[in-house]
Amino acid sequence: MTRPVPRPTVLEIDAYVPGKSAAPGAGRVFKLSANETPLGPSPAAVQALRDMAHEIAIYPEGSSRVLREAIGAHYALDPARIIMGAGSDNILELLALAYIGPGEEGLYSQYGFLEYKIVTLAAGGVPVVAPEKHFTADVDALLERVTEKTKIVFLANPNNPTGSYLPASEVARLAENLPPQVLLVLDAAYAEYVVRPDYEAGIALVDKHENVVMTRTFSKIYGLAGLRLGWAYGPRHVIDALNRIRSPFNISTAASAAGVAAVQDVAHIQAAVAHNEKWLPWLTREVRGLGLEVLPSVANFIAIRFPDRPGRSAAEADRFLTSRGLVLRGVGSYGMADFLRLTIGVEEANQRVVAALGDFMAETK
Ligand code: PMP
Repeated sequence: MTRPVPRPTVLEIDAYVPGKSAAPGAGRVFKLSANETPLGPSPAAVQALRDMAHEIAIYPEGSSRVLREAIGAHYALDPARIIMGAGSDNILELLALAYIGPGEEGLYSQYGFLEYKIVTLAAGGVPVVAPEKHFTADVDALLERVTEKTKIVFLANPNNPTGSYLPASEVARLAENLPPQVLLVLDAAYAEYVVRPDYEAGIALVDKHENVVMTRTFSKIYGLAGLRLGWAYGPRHVIDALNRIRSPFNISTAASAAGVAAVQDVAHIQAAVAHNEKWLPWLTREVRGLGLEVLPSVANFIAIRFPDRPGRSAAEADRFLTSRGLVLRGVGSYGMADFLRLTIGVEEANQRVVAALGDFMAETK
């Protein structure tokens, strides 16, 4: 039978499998599998959604101008150098489509966010992986793998699922040593959570280099994951290329309205940062205290390593925690089958996770 066949690289893609949803029926369930904020959205964003409801028969303003201006005002950026996407996944996809042609390479590091592989293949390109050291991107390893075919280097900083980050000096070294025709994509989805003085999300590098672009999202600290809203800040020529290929109304009026209110609610974001500053070290310490390895994280999640032993494996821990209404994320698709990723939750969720992990470790001795 003859039928339409997709381009070969499309069939090389293993479709992205999101973290489990919170299964009903196990009493109170905490979804700690997708790095969403435990504080929820800004109440002002929810109100903005209600207030715009009567507008939904009308197409959105195509360039998301009001939202770009609100972001520009908050981060002191030129709105003309911002583009909005339906989640930063959409921006990553546009970048790959715009810059990676058939046979050309998208480069990223070993435990880098999975979308880089997917969008490279979707564009017809070839994914190239650089090894990491201590679950952290390695600038030298990345630079060594740059070839004449490399079009984009993707770097999540901080990275998901490891929670590791590269200090500003290392990211600058990467930018300075890349050939000028290679685009460096700094994916700063978790930037707001990082409180280290040696961290920089990428704005300074975008302003310095013609081949650096930064991506951001409203899905994480801003609490708007369900609305699908992300953005990029880059040189004019990159933003221009992306604007040419994005779909004309890729951002809904609802997402725009909520985004404007969310970005202006500074107090809500400060509360989320404070919550994370308290519970990230607490969870790291408590889980380590149970004898489990926890990768050092600067984001709103931790990767916990389980022993490769029957009765104590990550898969068994996952089942045990799920039965207690605690939904974590297996990261086997990253080649980290002995880890589970845990999103920092509300206090009750965090306490329950530690208690449940304590029982798991005790029961299976
Ligand atoms: N980058 C990283 C590093 C992420 O972890 C995620 C969310 N899983 C994204 C980008 C995409 O987020 P969104 O499309 O919701 O903006």
